[in-house]
Amino acid sequence: MKRILYTAIVISVIFASCNTAKFSLKERQLILKKYSEKIMPLMLVSNKPDSVILYTESTDFEVNSKDKKLKKLVDLMYHTCIDSTNPGVGIAAPQLGVNKRIIWVQRFDKTQKPFEVYFNIKIKKYSSSKSDGWEGCLSIPGYRGIVRRSDTIVINYDTFNKKNITETVSGFTAVIFQHETDHLNGILYTDRIFDKSKLYTDEEYHRIFKTKKGSD
Ligand code: ZN
Repeated sequence: MKRILYTAIVISVIFASCNTAKFSLKERQLILKKYSEKIMPLMLVSNKPDSVILYTESTDFEVNSKDKKLKKLVDLMYHTCIDSTNPGVGIAAPQLGVNKRIIWVQRFDKTQKPFEVYFNIKIKKYSSSKSDGWEGCLSIPGYRGIVRRSDTIVINYDTFNKKNITETVSGFTAVIFQHETDHLNGILYTDRIFDKSKLYTDEEYHRIFKTKKGSD
């Protein structure tokens, strides 16, 4: 009986440690590399090995502000997102080859529109009211599509100083949170467009946008 109990405890300890996964060897090697101007190469859906990472669900991990690799990854993610040659409004760790639940989001709902980092993020509630909006993705360059997203969401995440926060977000910022959290669940915005013929090139997008602007 004692032996069974001991085995059960060991198994539960193993499971508990699995829930807060650490960086894999491959992820550690990727993070420790030197990058010019702190810009990491983006995983592209057009590349088979990259797409495997993009379509893999990311895991939670233990946030430790003293973890140098985590600090470096967060810094690299930020600089890759704001890269002036190809800037984004958000980025998720799998886009850089790391399947951990980390995202950066530009907060258009705050004054000065700061970029902020979120760990172990999950969306707890989606509003039933939804709107259609244009989206693009750093991992699918050259294309845009219209995606229907909830107008308001409730998010839960960890901060660098180990606080767990629940927050309600609306508008365009909520769209960015939904796009980036989708990345952590192995979902791309193109998966949410039912009619794949409704994927537009950047040129088509600019033409439609210009025409619309002209008719306003
Ligand atoms: Zn994306």
